[in-house]
Amino acid sequence: MIKYCDGCRKKGKLIIATEQHHKFSQTKLYKKLYGEYIHHPDNIQYLCYDCHHNKPLDKWDEIQFCKHFEIYPRSKSGIEKAKKLQKSNKNA
Ligand SMILES: [Zn+2]
Repeated sequence: MIKYCDGCRKKGKLIIATEQHHKFSQTKLYKKLYGEYIHHPDNIQYLCYDCHHNKPLDKWDEIQFCKHFEIYPRSKSGIEKAKKLQKSNKNA
């Protein structure tokens, strides 16, 4: 199936996408921890070369990524962040 560039489509242009951008970046660690989610279509944007390399991109950090899939963070730093967020929510 042909995918069109998400960035260009927003501007009303149909350009065939040649690249995939992972909103939550696929580092070695994250691929290991989130293997079943990282290549999920929700995490991937289809883009043309120009949009992928020359335009601002949608980016998710680990917390946003986990929230989207309704899972608990799995990396050490992600778990720490989630704990801190929980605390600040309680205090609010
Ligand atoms: Zn484009």
